Amino acid sequence: MNYEDVMKLALERGFYFPSCEIYADAQAGFWEYGPSGVSLKNKFLELWRRELIRRDGMMEIDGSQIMSKSVFEASGHLGNFADPIIKCTKCKSTFRADRTISEISKIEIPESADLVEFDNAILQNNIKCPKCKGDFENAKKFNMMFKVGIGPEEEEAYLRPETCQSIFVDFPRLFKTMRGKLPLGIAQIGKSFRNEISPRQSLLRLREFYQAEIEVFCNPTKLDEMERFSEVQNTIIRIQIDTKAVSMTCKEAVESKTIPNKFVAYYLGILAEFYEKTGIDVTKSRFRKLGDKEKAFYAQVAFDFEV
Ligand SMILES: [Zn+2]
Repeated sequence: MNYEDVMKLALERGFYFPSCEIYADAQAGFWEYGPSGVSLKNKFLELWRRELIRRDGMMEIDGSQIMSKSVFEASGHLGNFADPIIKCTKCKSTFRADRTISEISKIEIPESADLVEFDNAILQNNIKCPKCKGDFENAKKFNMMFKVGIGPEEEEAYLRPETCQSIFVDFPRLFKTMRGKLPLGIAQIGKSFRNEISPRQSLLRLREFYQAEIEVFCNPTKLDEMERFSEVQNTIIRIQIDTKAVSMTCKEAVESKTIPNKFVAYYLGILAEFYEKTGIDVTKSRFRKLGDKEKAFYAQVAFDFEV
């Protein structure tokens, strides 16, 4: 069965269905989980809590979904959490620049590239509006956070675009009141909100969705002093750099400097064990090391888990 067939069956069986579907102004990118969907989600969460949170002695919190403007000024999201968009001069439709260029011309430009790279690709490949063949305006950045007004004065606040913010904001209090010791994992499962320009692929690109997030706080000078590393040193992980995926133990990955230190390798190791227990065929998966332009704007090193 391919992805479309599985999603169609899940829809027919009520695992999930569109939100507000009885009204004509229902917006794309919002879905409900039906009873079977909720029980599948709960099962996944039980495993997540057992294999990651409890195994590693992490703390779990449940933070507020609306957060003040200062949080996102401090995190950089007000300035940087934006997608490149292009608008048609004729029919005024708006598209994601990177996706439209890749669909029409097969040229891949990372979403974090400079705006001029999109303009150049559009010009050089004579890319026109897919709806009306009109010309595009210059590419712009569109901030994907949902703004909300608090109280009668409508003071500026935002729906969180990621579940990590409250973990960072709450860290000082948690570290003190819970008598934390580094490295310390803090976890949160909850809703996040992103004003996607073109939500699609049903449950893959959404405007409102669940995130199961873990932030691990550490001493950056002690990344190779990780006692728990011995638990996973013989765990096999598949790592992809550029185009080739190779299997190796966590120990080999550190020794060959494929992974920069024991700290990162330990967490990739327990994640690999967790994913295997979810039933994913790990031989068809890999941790792909992201290139500089693909990484989030705050990351030094990043791996994506791909199946
Ligand atoms: Zn157009």
